[in-house]
Amino acid sequence: MTIEIRDLPSVRTTSNTDIIDMTPQVEKEIQRSAIRNGHATLFVPGSTAALTTIEYERGVINDLRKAIERIAPKDLYYEHDERWGDGNGYAHVRAALLGPSLHIPIIDGRLSLGTWQQIVLLDFDNRPRKRRIVMQLVGE
Ligand code: ZN
Repeated sequence: MTIEIRDLPSVRTTSNTDIIDMTPQVEKEIQRSAIRNGHATLFVPGSTAALTTIEYERGVINDLRKAIERIAPKDLYYEHDERWGDGNGYAHVRAALLGPSLHIPIIDGRLSLGTWQQIVLLDFDNRPRKRRIVMQLVGE
């Protein structure tokens, strides 16, 4: 069994609920890797960002953005804002609900994603950020 750790190229985000397709970068690292069968764990450090998968198509990206806005609206009262004054309570709640990591099987040197399933980074913070994704590959 081998373990490889890779840092994907960092991504600059805005403050408007960015949803960024990371699939090409992740696939590139899988191709560079010696691991043919195992799994990839992807993790975004930070409490206002998240990872998930979705069909990367403008309609459903906007639908997801609207659904997130309904679940944790930006203009509600958040106790976090009173405590820290950074105004991003909504971003912490959104990130917690979606989660910071993904776990994807690697089979015969390929991620076992569906045809219409892309890996996306979501940044909810209320200021531009530079995000990095840590990728750990385990297998043989
Ligand atoms: Zn905060």
